[in-house]
Amino acid sequence: MALTGIQILKMLPKKNCGECKIPTCLAFAMKVAAGQVEIGECPYVDDAVKETIGEASAPPIRTIKIGAGDAAFTSGGETCLFRHEKRFENPTGIGVLLTTTMDDQAIASRIENFKKLQYERVGVLLKADLIAVKDAKNDAGSFAALVQKVMDSAPTASLILMSDSAANLSAAAKVCKDKKPLLYGATAGNANEMAALAKDVACPLAVRGKNLDEAVTITEEMMKAGLKDLIIDTGARTIRAALEDNIVARRSAVTKKYKPLGFPTINFPCEMTEDPMMEAMIASVLIAKYAGIVILSDLQGDTLFPLLLERLNIFTDPQRPMVVEENIYPLNGPGPDSPVIITCNFSLTYFIVSGEIEGSKVPSWLLIKDTEGLSVLTAWAAGKFGADLIAQFIKKSGIEEKINHRELLIPGYLASIKGELEEELPQWTITIGPREAGHIPAFLKEWKPAPKK
Ligand code: SF4
Repeated sequence: MALTGIQILKMLPKKNCGECKIPTCLAFAMKVAAGQVEIGECPYVDDAVKETIGEASAPPIRTIKIGAGDAAFTSGGETCLFRHEKRFENPTGIGVLLTTTMDDQAIASRIENFKKLQYERVGVLLKADLIAVKDAKNDAGSFAALVQKVMDSAPTASLILMSDSAANLSAAAKVCKDKKPLLYGATAGNANEMAALAKDVACPLAVRGKNLDEAVTITEEMMKAGLKDLIIDTGARTIRAALEDNIVARRSAVTKKYKPLGFPTINFPCEMTEDPMMEAMIASVLIAKYAGIVILSDLQGDTLFPLLLERLNIFTDPQRPMVVEENIYPLNGPGPDSPVIITCNFSLTYFIVSGEIEGSKVPSWLLIKDTEGLSVLTAWAAGKFGADLIAQFIKKSGIEEKINHRELLIPGYLASIKGELEEELPQWTITIGPREAGHIPAFLKEWKPAPKK
C-alpha cells in the first residue's frame, strides 16, 4: 500500500536542512510519495525507515538496472497503464541477438551496426541499448569468448547473457562481472542454480516460463530466494501471446499490486518470425504495449530508426514539453554582419530551424526565446511570444553587442506583430521571415542587412 506524503513526513528527521536538494522535509516527503525522488536522497534516514518507505513507495513495476556506470540501461519503474495518466518512465530497451553459432562476419556486422546506427533527434541520442549473447552450442568456452569479444568491440553495450546452463552462464558472467549483465534465465528446471548464481555475481536475473503461469511460479520462487532484480519472459513466441501477456502483467502489477508480475518483461521478436519487416512490426507493437526489452535478430537502419522514433514518442513526458534553453545560438560561425533570427524554444522548432540554417551554410545568430515549450503560433496565442516579451528578450539577450546591424528576422507566422515590435524596438528593422522552415536557406542566401536607423 503506497504511503501518503504526510505518512512519509512522520518518518523523516524533519531537519529542513535542504541537503536532499529540496528545501523542506514536507516537500521532500511529497516528492517521495509521488515517486519523483528516492528516499535515499535524505542522508539522515536510517536503514529500517529506508526499507519501509522504499518498499511502500516503490513503483509497481520494479526499476531494474542492467550494466554499470553511466552506460547502464534502466528498465521498469512504471506506475501507470496509459501515458496520459502520468508518463512512462524508462524507454523499452532495444537489443540485438548474437549467438555462438553465428559466423565471425555475422557477429562483426551486428556489432558494427550496434555502434554505428545512432541518430540525434530533438537533442536526444537515439540508439540500440543492449547486446544479447546466446550460448547456442551449450559450450562455456565459446560462450565466454563471444562475451569477451563483445566487451572488447562494444564496451558501452549493456549485456544479456543467455544460456540454459548455470555453469556456462557463470563462466561468461566472470568475464563481464563488473558490467552487471542480465543473466537469462531461470527456468522451472534450473531455478535454484540460477538464483544462486545471480546472488553470487550480484546481477539481475531473467525468468523464463513456458507460459505466463509458469513464469509467475518461477518469479515467486526467486522472490522467496531473496532476489529482487528480475525480468520476466513469459515464453510467448507469437505476437498475440506476447501482447496479451505484457498487458496482463502490467495491469496486474499496476491495478492489483500483484508483486510476482511487478517486473519488466523481455520479448523476443527475433524468435517470432524470419521476416525482418514482420519482426520490426512485432517489435513496434510490443514497444507500444509494455515491453521492457525487445530483442531483434539484427539492426538495420530502415527498421531500427522507425522503432527508435516510435519509442521516443511513447516515452516522452506528455506533461512536459521538450524545450531548449533560452539563449543566443551561433550557427555556422556568425560575425557582426550576420542575420539575427528569432524563434520559440519548442525543441522540435529549434531543431528544424537550426537544421535548415546549418544546411544553408549562412553564418547566423539564432535567438531562442523561452515560450515554455510552445510552438510559435501557440505561444503567441498564449501571450508568451508577443512583441513586448520579444523586445524585452532582445534587449537583455546581449545580441546588440555582437552585431553591427539592427535587423531582426521573425517567423512568418508572426507577421501580425511586426508593427507592434517596431514600436517596442525603435532602433530595429523587423523583417518577416518565411512561414516554413524549409524556405529559410533560400531566404538567408538573399539576405542583406537593412541600413541602420
Ligand atoms: Fe529533510 Fe532529509 Fe531533506 Fe534535510 S535532507 S530537508 S532532513 S528530507
